[in-house]
Amino acid sequence: MAGRLIGIDLGTTNSCACVVEGGDYKVIPNAEGSRTTPSVVAFTDSGEELVGHAAKRQAITNPRRTLFALKRLIGQRFDSPKIQEAISHLPFQVAKATNGDAWVGVGDRQYAPPEISAIVLSEIKRSAEAYLREEVIDAVITVPAYFDDAQRQATKDAGRIAGLNVVRIVNEPTAAALAYGLVNKDKRELLAICDLGGGTFDFTLMEMNDGVFEVLATSGDTFLGGEDFDLALMQWLFKQFQETNGVDVSADQSVQQRFKEVAEKAKCELSSLDVVDIRIPFVIQGPDGPLHIETTLKRSEYEEMVTPLVNRMIAPIQDAMKHANQMPSNVSQVILVGGQSRMPLVQKRLQEFFGKEPNKTINPDEVVAIGAAIQGAVLSGDIKDLVLLDVTPLSLGIETQGGGFAKIINRNTTIPARDKRVFTTVTDNQARVEIHVLQGERELAEANKSLGRFDLVNLPPLPGGVPQIEVAFDIDSNGIVRVTALDLTTNSEQTMHIQPSSGLTEFEIQRMIRDASQYAEEDSRRRDDLKYIASTDGLLFSCEKAFADFGANLTANQNREVRQLLETVRQAVIAKDSSIIRANETKLLDVQGLLTTAAIAGSEDAVSVVDMEGDNDSNSGGVNVL
Ligand code: AMP
Repeated sequence: MAGRLIGIDLGTTNSCACVVEGGDYKVIPNAEGSRTTPSVVAFTDSGEELVGHAAKRQAITNPRRTLFALKRLIGQRFDSPKIQEAISHLPFQVAKATNGDAWVGVGDRQYAPPEISAIVLSEIKRSAEAYLREEVIDAVITVPAYFDDAQRQATKDAGRIAGLNVVRIVNEPTAAALAYGLVNKDKRELLAICDLGGGTFDFTLMEMNDGVFEVLATSGDTFLGGEDFDLALMQWLFKQFQETNGVDVSADQSVQQRFKEVAEKAKCELSSLDVVDIRIPFVIQGPDGPLHIETTLKRSEYEEMVTPLVNRMIAPIQDAMKHANQMPSNVSQVILVGGQSRMPLVQKRLQEFFGKEPNKTINPDEVVAIGAAIQGAVLSGDIKDLVLLDVTPLSLGIETQGGGFAKIINRNTTIPARDKRVFTTVTDNQARVEIHVLQGERELAEANKSLGRFDLVNLPPLPGGVPQIEVAFDIDSNGIVRVTALDLTTNSEQTMHIQPSSGLTEFEIQRMIRDASQYAEEDSRRRDDLKYIASTDGLLFSCEKAFADFGANLTANQNREVRQLLETVRQAVIAKDSSIIRANETKLLDVQGLLTTAAIAGSEDAVSVVDMEGDNDSNSGGVNVL
C-alpha cells in the first residue's frame, strides 16, 4: 500500500469518505464543503457530466439523464427479479446488455452500473486528494451485508475504473460496528444495527466480542428510506398549495424539484425543531400575480403522516431476530446508521421495540465510512488490537436431482470456511455427474444464482444410489470459493475455483478506465462551473426570500425589474447555464444590496436612495440602472 488509505461508504443515496490519522478518524469534506456527497450522476443535454449535489439538483427537471440509486443495479443480471423491481421505481432507462447484465442508457450511450458508480468514486478520490494533499490510491469500500459475489466484484470494478485500489470490501453493518468497536473494544455485546438511509432499510444483528465481530442475521426493506419521507411531505405541500390557491401544481417538473428540496429540508429541520415555517416564493404565476406557499408544519403533524413508514421497519427486524433466535431484550446496543435514522420518531419506535435507547454517539451519516477507514487502518497495521471476522452473505451449495438446492455452507458462516456433504447418483451405471454450484437462499436451484458448473467423470459402473461423491466447499478470507468433487470409491477428484466476477470483461474495464481519465480535464472545468452555479443558487435563494418579504418596499418599477432578474437567474440556475448567470452576476449583487437596504429601512424614504426609476427597458431581463 502506498500513501494513505481511505474508507468509503458508497451509499445508495449519499456517499461519505473518511481517513484514520494517528488513531483518530476524520471525515473528508467534498469540494462544496459537505461531509457527504449524493451518489448521483447526471449528463446534461449538452453532454456535460455532473456529479454529487450538482447532479441531484437537476434530478426532477432532467429525470431521464440523471442517474441515481445505481447500487440497486450494480453487478446484477437484467432478468433478475430484484432488477425488475428496481427498474419500476427508476425514471431513467435500464436495458439488457449483450452479456445479459443490466446497463443504463443515457441518450444513445449505454453505461455499465460500475462505470457510473466510478464517477461518484472519482469525485470522492479527488476530494480526498485535495484534503490530504497527496495522491490517494488505496481504499476500503463498504457494501450491504446481503450483496452477492457479483455485486461485490462490480463494486471493486467501480473502484478500479475510478483509479482506486480496493484493498477490501467490507459489510456496511460490520463497518458501523467497527466504528463503535474503536470506542467499546473490550465488551461482549449483541448489536442491532438499524440502517435507514435515503432509499433502503437494512437491519443486521451482530455479535461483538473482544474486537471480533460476527453477523448473526440480516434483513431489510429495499424500498423504504428517506425518499419516502420526503415524498409524504411533498404531497402534503401540493395539497396545501391547492387548498390555498385552487391550483394543482403536482405535475409541474420544476415545481416538483423545488418542493422536493424544501420538503427534504423541512423534514431534516423537524428532527430538531417542533415546528417549521415553510415558504416557497413564486411557485407559479397566477392571474393576479405570483403564487407562493407560506405555511407551518408541526413535528406532531408530520409524525402522524409518516407513522406507517416508520412502522414498516418492524417486520424485517422481527424476521432477523427470529432467524438468530434472539429476543429484543438480549440486544445490548441499538446502533443507528443512515441519515433518516436521525428522525426522533424512528428512534422512538426502535426504543419501544428494543426497550433501550439507541446509541447516538456517532453521526449516522458517517458511521459506515468511519468503520471502513478503521478497517483500512487494521489492514495497514495502524490499528492492531481489532480482528474482523467476515461472513458469507448467502448460502453456497449445489443443484440436486429435480432442480433442488442442497446447501453446503450456510449464509452468515464466518470465513474462511470449509464444509462438505456426500451425494450419490440417480441412475444405474452413471459415468458422470454434473456439479452445478449455486449461491442463494431459495429451495429451487433455478431461483438461486449460478456460479459455475463442472463434471466429475469416469465413475465406475455401479447401481444408482451406491456411489459416494463428496462435495467440499472452501472459502478463503477474500471470499474466493473452491469446490471439489471426490469419488470416494476411486478417489478421483475434480476441482473448480470460482473467482468472483461482476460481469464486466477485463477489456471493458480497461476501456472504462481510459474513458474516465480522458474526460477528467473537461469534467474538472465543468465542475468549477457548477460550483459557481451552486454558489449563485444560495445568493439567489436569499434574494428571492428577501424580495418576498420586502419587495413591497420597492417602487413599482424596481419591483418589476427585480422580479424579472430573479426569474431570469432562476431559469439559468435550473438550466445550469453559467453564461447567463455570469452576465447577470453584478446585477444580482446589486439587487442583494437593494433588498438589504429595503429590509433595513423598511420605508420608501430609505429605499429611494437607490434609484431604479430611470430604466424602463423591460426587455432587458435584468436590472440595468443599478
Ligand atoms: P444516507 O443514505 O444515509 O445518506 O441518508 C440520506 C437520507 O437521510 C436522506 O433522505 C436525508 O434526507 C435523510 N436525512 C439526513 N439528515 C436528516 C435529519 N436530520 N432528519 C431526517 N432525515 C435526515
